[in-house]
Amino acid sequence: MIYALAFNLSVNLILGLALWLTWARERSQGFNRLLGASFLAQVLATPAYLLWRQSEGLLHSLGGFGLAASGALSMLMMVAGLRDLVGRPLSWRQATALGLGLLGLLGALLDQSIAAAQGSGAALNTLLGVAALRWLWPHGKAERLAGLSLVLIGLNQFTFALGGEAALGLQSSIGAALRMLLGISLLHAALRRSSLESRGLRTQLHYMTEHSHQGVLVAREDEPLYANAALLELYGVASLAEFKHYQQQQPASLRASALQRRRAIISGELPHAHWEGERRRSDGSLMRLMFSSWRIDWADGPAEHLVISDDTERYNATQALLHQATHDPVTGLPNRSALQQRLRELCAQARPFGLIWLDLDRFTLLNEAYGHATGDALLRAFGALLQAEFTPQAQTMHLGEDEFALLVTAGAEPALLHELTRRLRARLARPFAVDAREIYIDASIGVARFPHTASDPEGLLREASAAMHEAKQEPGSAERWAEASPRRSSSATMLAEQAMRAGLKNAEFELVYQPKIAAAGGALLSFEALVRWHRPSHGVVNPADFIPAAERTGLIVPLGAMLLQQACRQLSNWRAEGRLVLPVAVNVSPLQLHDPSFPAFVARTLQTFDLPAALLTLEITETAAVRDADQACERISRLNELGIKVALDDFGTGFSSLNLLRSMPLDAVKIDRSLIEPMPQRTASAVVRAICQLAAVLDLKVVAEGIETQAQAEAARAAGCNELQGFLFSKPLSASAAGDWLARQPEPALG
Ligand code: C2E
Ligand code: MG
Ligand code: MG
Repeated sequence: MIYALAFNLSVNLILGLALWLTWARERSQGFNRLLGASFLAQVLATPAYLLWRQSEGLLHSLGGFGLAASGALSMLMMVAGLRDLVGRPLSWRQATALGLGLLGLLGALLDQSIAAAQGSGAALNTLLGVAALRWLWPHGKAERLAGLSLVLIGLNQFTFALGGEAALGLQSSIGAALRMLLGISLLHAALRRSSLESRGLRTQLHYMTEHSHQGVLVAREDEPLYANAALLELYGVASLAEFKHYQQQQPASLRASALQRRRAIISGELPHAHWEGERRRSDGSLMRLMFSSWRIDWADGPAEHLVISDDTERYNATQALLHQATHDPVTGLPNRSALQQRLRELCAQARPFGLIWLDLDRFTLLNEAYGHATGDALLRAFGALLQAEFTPQAQTMHLGEDEFALLVTAGAEPALLHELTRRLRARLARPFAVDAREIYIDASIGVARFPHTASDPEGLLREASAAMHEAKQEPGSAERWAEASPRRSSSATMLAEQAMRAGLKNAEFELVYQPKIAAAGGALLSFEALVRWHRPSHGVVNPADFIPAAERTGLIVPLGAMLLQQACRQLSNWRAEGRLVLPVAVNVSPLQLHDPSFPAFVARTLQTFDLPAALLTLEITETAAVRDADQACERISRLNELGIKVALDDFGTGFSSLNLLRSMPLDAVKIDRSLIEPMPQRTASAVVRAICQLAAVLDLKVVAEGIETQAQAEAARAAGCNELQGFLFSKPLSASAAGDWLARQPEPALG
């Protein structure tokens, strides 16, 4: 008998756990937990029975209570579980009432004889079985079998009531077998339900994707695994195989980047992706698509799930609006707002460019004479001519009415701009064929250059337009060039000044060093220090573009002082490194020279860096010297007293008199590049020779600046120049490159 009881206990335990685990995997099926609990509660019945039967007193009562409790709990859980299974769950109140009722009833029965208790329990169970059979009947075969098992379990309990203790083993064994049947049919019912549910879900999903307006694609590597109807229609293909073929025709770069993204998505490196782009339909028409993708678990492993929507209409509408906003309706050319946008971009790039502003003369009269349709046709013909003639050097724009612009982005060299306006004017000399008429037109032309004229879009537009209006004063096609003037581009200048002040604080100014060479023998004699401004977001700015502004604002005084110190510090570093050290010439602005304390400042600086005066020379421009000759003479004399030599820079541009040259205590003259450039032409060489002869009489050295060719070098040498400087020998060098040159020199000369 004990074996039969143990068998019964094991069956209840195993099935209870199996149902509970089923619930743990599929929590939407709450009835499995209740049914599992019912089986587990039944496990308690066996030990409780043994305790009740084999002991007396308290333990006996405890066993009795356990028997009643396990019976009541098991029945309650079974009823609750089955009601849940059939979709009519018990309320809390019903469950509590039923539980307490069962407990009381079973407890009371135990006080009767065991046979009577068993008989009543069997009747109760049979009743429950019949009720369950009714609930379960409509729900399927497994459910019916479960109901039937419950009825049989109830009936089986009568075995004990009829056969007494001796029949307990038999009842227990049959009971275990029946409970096994019950458990298995319940498990089967649960499994069938969950498979039905997931199949339903799948069908729903499939229905949704198949009927979605968005394209859906599942793919792995370059193999499409699934495509919905919307996707096939979008791409204009009939089947997945055709779509695959279409994909294989795509450009290699597109396929490679798609593959790369797909691998990143599948590996989990990229959780999701969103992008858009243009694709061609199988019939070749263009469409604008938006894509989203993520990873999906597909039949035999992970894949990429893409959702694709067609954005062509919205995109085209926006593009059309954008085109309308940025193009002239008559000519279809980019309009004023497009020009402003382009100017902003170009100014930000900080590369030189030119703006040619054109305005047709007497266009209103022409409109009145021939009518607006002809006027429009003329504008179109003129626009087309500009485009045909000047693309790609310039972009043609139509600013409205009779105003056009050419944006010359291929550099703002004056020579190129002159060439373009010359060609334009040559073309305007011939008539335009419009509506079977020959019409002559004139245009007034204004030219502005970035950054020469102005360094901001507004300044350029203003200056080009002002220049065009000046040209309008002249009859016929005429052109005017806007000049950079402090009045005109005041806002740009203001900005540059602010930037310069900040630059001084942030140490953005740096000296470069250009060698001067002995005309005879070619030895390195000295360097000239030239300033460069590393202006943030503008790159390297040359002195010609900021020294005039620095002089206008007086900023040149602190800047010049700083540069003098920088040059001296460099000399002192070279000396400290034990290099051969040659003199460095520093350019001095007239404003610095004007300051009476300048010579004393130079002396102090030399002292600070412990440098001999012979290592420093100063260059002042001829124009500055001429402007206030007396003062210049006085300062140069004081500098000479300190042992510092001064050279007259840019000689030949400032109209200095012979008398001035004679009276100034100078060491050298530097002949301006404009006089050297035309050499070796005979007349140019003759002028340089005359300067050299004059300098020899006045005991001045002569330096030729801007030597670019061997022929110029030879001519300058032959004319009698003592020193040569120019790109032929070297461009201005960074301090370290100049230091390297010094290191290559044979032996110390000075310092
Ligand atoms: P500059 O003192 O007459 O300097 C000579 C200019 O000619 C330099 O231009 C130099 O780079 C350039 N150059 C030298 N060899 C050749 C050549 O073979 N071909 C051509 N095309 N150019 C050559 P950079 O550095 O742009 O300086 C321009 C001017 O700015 C200088 O003329 C000078 O007047 C002024 N400047 C430069 N640095 C300073 C400075 O630190 N302080 C002051 N006050 N003015 C400076
Ligand atoms: Mg100079
Ligand atoms: Mg010069």
